[in-house]
Amino acid sequence: MAPVRTCVGCRSKRPQTEMLRCALAEGGSPVISRTAAGRGAWLCSDRAGCLSQAVKRRGFDRAWKRPMGATEHNILTIAYEAIMKNMEN
Ligand SMILES: [Zn+2]
Repeated sequence: MAPVRTCVGCRSKRPQTEMLRCALAEGGSPVISRTAAGRGAWLCSDRAGCLSQAVKRRGFDRAWKRPMGATEHNILTIAYEAIMKNMEN
């Protein structure tokens, strides 16, 4: 069984394999990577609303222990939408 994580958006508990890991890379840029160093925030990989829900609930701020700025939000949104688009295909 894969370890279970809680989505920072919808708060569902799900196996890691069904989720995306958003980490804050060195320098403060968010990356969506399972292996990146740093604190991870988990999002469902199949529910488009979880990112915006997480931002609204300040789920990233909590997971990363720092407030997420507009730049980080933009970078994360672009990376997330690219992944979501790939999954539809
Ligand atoms: Zn979710």
